Amino acid sequence: MKTLEAEIITIGTELLLGELVDTNTRRIAHALRDIGLDLYRTSTVGDNAERIAQAIRESISRAQVVITTGGLGPTVDDPTREGIALAFGVPNEYRPELWEQIQERFERFGHTPTENNRRQAFIPRGATAIENPIGTAPAFMMVEEESVVIALPGVPAEMQHLLEGFVLPFLQEQLKLSGMIKTRLLRTSGVGESWLDDHIGDLEHLSNPTVGLAAHPGRVDIRITAKAATPEAAEEMIEQVSSTIRERLGDVIYGLDDASLEEVALDSVTERGWRLVVLEAGTGGVIAAGFSDHGSGFAGGQVLPLPEEDQDLGKALIDLQSELSAEVGLALALKSEGERHVIEVIFRTPDGEKYLERSYGGPPTYAPEWALSLAANLIRRRLS
Ligand code: ATP
Repeated sequence: MKTLEAEIITIGTELLLGELVDTNTRRIAHALRDIGLDLYRTSTVGDNAERIAQAIRESISRAQVVITTGGLGPTVDDPTREGIALAFGVPNEYRPELWEQIQERFERFGHTPTENNRRQAFIPRGATAIENPIGTAPAFMMVEEESVVIALPGVPAEMQHLLEGFVLPFLQEQLKLSGMIKTRLLRTSGVGESWLDDHIGDLEHLSNPTVGLAAHPGRVDIRITAKAATPEAAEEMIEQVSSTIRERLGDVIYGLDDASLEEVALDSVTERGWRLVVLEAGTGGVIAAGFSDHGSGFAGGQVLPLPEEDQDLGKALIDLQSELSAEVGLALALKSEGERHVIEVIFRTPDGEKYLERSYGGPPTYAPEWALSLAANLIRRRLS
């Protein structure tokens, strides 16, 4: 028995080779979440009609809605039409009206279609064409008794256009979807996942809203997701859990949703009418780059190569602060000691100086990002 759920299949050998980042899945997943349609599985297959057919058959054996992207172009390695036709056991057939649409579109773009483009006027027998006003490849859908397979183009702008203009309204109407899903992120820094588990682990067992953690170097996001009949009801459910979490965690949380830790830190500098300079060694400029996008509170930075033994960072920081007339100075040196990374930080404001040393044992490539989180969180905690 199929359930009311969706699956996404992205098609393209470039995706499997790791040459192309699959942004289509993310966009469709967000959109399905917003209309309250559950997504339980996503998959990727290469440009091979047999494997596409197999993936489609598997997906429609479980889910009522299957959305594919890619493989609709005019070349031989654009095999989605063929894969879907195989999955449903029907031939592709020529639709003169699609060929007319393709020709018209080419004319509008000032080009002449090739004989190859005629391939795009073939879609599986029984399929309904979905007009693609911003590209040449027509999309289409196959509706079977209990399932619908919707084939969208791979080009993200075209995919998004058809998703919003046709697919989502169609699914809402067809499936009588009345629920919707909302998500809120509570962003934390300065504590790890296990610390958070200790404090809010009980909430991570809730089923609606759900509460989950996503760790990044030096930061952890708490995601609250609620499913409800209306946006207001979902919002209210989220608010209840969110206020419990805020009570328990306090200012470990630095912001919501798309809040940026660097921006919050820099705001706490500018709110005092101050400016920040950064002196960094061993981090490849990541710290200055992290702050430089967030407005006039960042006065500049100096990037040093790997820290040397006798480097007097404190003195260099005072010099840099006076040179760039910045009240707040942050000096940071990242050194590796075997497997471990050690970071030394000097933080100077007109109210005093703070020195701290921390060690990091995660993957070395993330050490600079972790150092940036540590630095931004230190500024935020000390100034706000
Ligand atoms: P068109 O005929 O309009 O080119 P198509 O359906 O043939 O569409 P593809 O040839 O599979 O699409 O992909 C075209 C381009 O779209 C790719 O080269 C890539 O840049 C982009 N693309 C394809 N799939 C994805 C995806 N899953 N995520 C992000 N970009 C993608």
